[in-house]
Amino acid sequence: MKYDPEQEPYVALRTKALESLLIEKGLLSAEAVDERISEYERDIGPLKGAKVVARAWIDPAFKARLLASGAAIAELGLPGGGNLVVVENTPTHHHMVVCTLCSCYPWTVLGLPPTWYKSFAYRSRAVREPRAVLREFGLELDEAVAVHVWDSSAEMRYMVLPERPAGTEGLTEEELAALVTRDAMIGVARVAAPAPSGAAAG
Ligand code: FE
Repeated sequence: MKYDPEQEPYVALRTKALESLLIEKGLLSAEAVDERISEYERDIGPLKGAKVVARAWIDPAFKARLLASGAAIAELGLPGGGNLVVVENTPTHHHMVVCTLCSCYPWTVLGLPPTWYKSFAYRSRAVREPRAVLREFGLELDEAVAVHVWDSSAEMRYMVLPERPAGTEGLTEEELAALVTRDAMIGVARVAAPAPSGAAAG
């Protein structure tokens, strides 16, 4: 296979080199690294963000505070809202998040970023041709919908508050949270309406 410098960015190579050195010196174990990573995948995941979204959907006062300042996530007992900006998708405005420079991501609420988020293709194309990128994610936006692309940095992390799907009026906060996906909170997908009752869960 041809060498692709974007496949293994410098920071990834440096991290791997540091990791093997620390393991070799007995300062770190591979198990400890794996445990820390799975902690993010298992316990932090996008689940915290989903809870924030569900609360915002059912509590307009919370939603207003959240859109004013990401620090409002502290009301749900969540840390890390200090540099968090929450942007709301509406029928006329669509927001999506990228980090053009590297891979800044609101990991306190969404866990670890997906691989594609860190890819050169996403980082460059999200700003250049966001509609084309969204189409590839299966999200076709009407030309009348304004697209806003938010470039994350070490100082500012963005999370999208997706639109609440129709037909979810009777759902509990917990059931709503279960509908919210990571991709919807990055802004590359919509939250799908729940399958009609009686239908088998996929
Ligand atoms: Fe970054």
